[in-house]
Amino acid sequence: MENQFKVENNLKRYTMQFIFTKYWLFLFSFFSLFSFTEPAPQTFTFVQVADTQLGFEDYEKDLQSFNQAVKQINEINPDFVIICGDLVNVANDSSYADFLNIKNKLKVPCYCVAGNHDIQKIPNDTSLVYYRKVIGKDYYSFMHKGYTFIIANTQLWNGEVENESEKHDHWFKKTLEVARKKKSSVFVAGHSPIYVEDPAEQTGYFNLPPAKRKEVLNLFRENNVVAYLSGHAHRLIVNNFEGTQMVTSETTSVNFDKRPLGFRVWKVSAGTVTHESVPLKY
Ligand SMILES: [Zn+2]
Repeated sequence: MENQFKVENNLKRYTMQFIFTKYWLFLFSFFSLFSFTEPAPQTFTFVQVADTQLGFEDYEKDLQSFNQAVKQINEINPDFVIICGDLVNVANDSSYADFLNIKNKLKVPCYCVAGNHDIQKIPNDTSLVYYRKVIGKDYYSFMHKGYTFIIANTQLWNGEVENESEKHDHWFKKTLEVARKKKSSVFVAGHSPIYVEDPAEQTGYFNLPPAKRKEVLNLFRENNVVAYLSGHAHRLIVNNFEGTQMVTSETTSVNFDKRPLGFRVWKVSAGTVTHESVPLKY
């Protein structure tokens, strides 16, 4: 009961904090700090990369940027890396071979998310079968030092894909339920932001449809979701949804907000999570 009280307390506190710091977060969110409900003694670091999107504007430059990111990530030596989708701009054997060739230079495990450029805005059998054959699973979870990491397929949330979306939803809810029973704090990673500025905003290119958005946010609220990591928007977005950090990272291909190309380093330490951007060194 004492823990449960702390949860509610924290949620209220972060909601208030969010109201007062929303604009500050948008302007100065190189760094942010927050606490969550199940303090854990484990300390670790992981990296969020977004939209390597080889060939978005300049194929050679994108190759070079992704290579540089891998080099810097290896120097940082995090526990693992999550790439939040749009691995390539046009999914084919050649672009994925280039992507895998660079990705495989990482000295730590790397978990890929499927984006709209990988499996289409609304996937189909062909795009899913191809992605699963070349890259691997498009949704899965893993444990790390007591925390649950869920890699979701947000493209299956963008529209109802027969035999796929329902299965994915069932798996997602079940995985959250297992984590809740274990009292494991959860990080979710996907490609599309759930919302960009306001949970009640209109449907657009960079968010999820309102009904699915509401459903997913309810699941975040009901479970111990510490953070949601995404890409797709090609700009930094940091929101706080009732205590869940919603972080869309800078990319290594093109940033529409003119921020330097780069990635984001997350540190988890004794119940505290921080994240900061690391620009590519050219
Ligand atoms: Zn995208």
